[in-house]
Amino acid sequence: MPIWNPAIEQMKRSELKELQLAKLKQNVKYVYDNVSFYRKKMDELKVKPEDIKSLEDIRKLPFTKKSDLRDNYPFGLFATPMKKVVRIHASSGTTGKSTVVGYTRRDIENWAEMVARIASAAGVTEDDIAQIAFGYGLFTGGFGLHYGLEKIGVTIVPASSGNTKRQVQLMQDFGATVLVCTPSYALHIADVVKECGLNPKKDLKLKFGLFGAEPWSESIRKEIEKNLNIIATDNYGMSELIGPGVAGECLEKNGMHINEDFFFVEVINPETGEWVKEGEKGELVITPLEKEALPLLRYRTGDLSKVCYEPCKCGRTTGRIMKIMGRTDDMLIVRGVNVFPSQIEEVLLDVEGVAPHYLIIVDRKDNIDYLELWVEVVDSIFFDEMKKLVELEEKIVDRLFTVLGLKVKLKLVEPKSIERSQGKAKRIIDKRDVYENQNNSKNC
Ligand code: AMP
Ligand code: ZN
Repeated sequence: MPIWNPAIEQMKRSELKELQLAKLKQNVKYVYDNVSFYRKKMDELKVKPEDIKSLEDIRKLPFTKKSDLRDNYPFGLFATPMKKVVRIHASSGTTGKSTVVGYTRRDIENWAEMVARIASAAGVTEDDIAQIAFGYGLFTGGFGLHYGLEKIGVTIVPASSGNTKRQVQLMQDFGATVLVCTPSYALHIADVVKECGLNPKKDLKLKFGLFGAEPWSESIRKEIEKNLNIIATDNYGMSELIGPGVAGECLEKNGMHINEDFFFVEVINPETGEWVKEGEKGELVITPLEKEALPLLRYRTGDLSKVCYEPCKCGRTTGRIMKIMGRTDDMLIVRGVNVFPSQIEEVLLDVEGVAPHYLIIVDRKDNIDYLELWVEVVDSIFFDEMKKLVELEEKIVDRLFTVLGLKVKLKLVEPKSIERSQGKAKRIIDKRDVYENQNNSKNC
């Protein structure tokens, strides 16, 4: 399989490190000069851009957290005037709570380059027809893959997500050879292919699947590969850093090659903030090295994994992020949407008649995620007439939909019926087991 950008993807590691250092120095100066938030933080830490003399010196710089983006909603961390910003994306969430990201024209071009590389590594060439079943819109998935695949010269079918029967029809009619979406949606598409009486081997032309945006296990990979008769690869990214395209697997399927000329990856102990030993598991902290609109420093992803720097059989020399093994926080990803239990709690605290006792149950039925919420009501409401309970239920479901962008299955339950815990309340039951076996998954 051809390598999209051999000059970078096969660069000697010593040269790559030099390149990273040069870009890091430039980026730190750029950030210090253009983002008052960082200037203030660096001044507090008494660190100046000139203090960054080696890649290890990155540890002198402050971390950035998701809450920093929210606190500076919407454009407070942007380093360029808005006239230079050509695109905005955002995560779901109420106004003031979502994370908003911006791109200059050059950011968009770089993004396309990153995605072109990971898609090529996953087997895609200009001869392919790719159906993109990621949502197009504020979510970065659809547009991110679109521009990268277009750069390769792929024929794109921008189907967006949803309407699965139509997806299957389009795949059949247009002869898609590549499917791009979340792994859970791929499983659902496979179910519908079967329901439609189609045999993927004979009736479809699919060869490759590029999946990401949520955690998935090796057993899900096997199931998708079998049910759709494809080779399925994993890719990783997040809106704060660019969107998809931070890293992606090659056909060896043993870790996701990092676009290291664009990102410097650290692995830290989430408790101490210190680097773990090379190859050990920890939280990924990622610094984009040449973003113009939103150049973050040391972004704490909350994702747990390991990074491997051993040479890969594919010939690329870039480091690889192994499969994501969990999160440091309780963020859930439900149908590709990031859900924080705190968002749910905030809604509940605002509704009269409910007690602050709730249980979130996430499960997958017919390969579609659903979120069930049990909420205790107070005595006076519980013994009230049915009509009032139904009204209360509708009100909560509506408010949650506005905040999360997801329809929640709500169950109002009797006072004191949710088990009280002795220590930290266990408020989430995730039955999907998305990180299954990841901790002992094959190592590079
Ligand atoms: P978003 O910014 O909405 O795209 O969400 C980014 C988050 O999705 C990341 O921080 C991860 O927790 C998760 N994510 C993205 N890609 C993957 C992947 N390939 N495997 C596991 N989790 C992923
Ligand atoms: Zn490889």
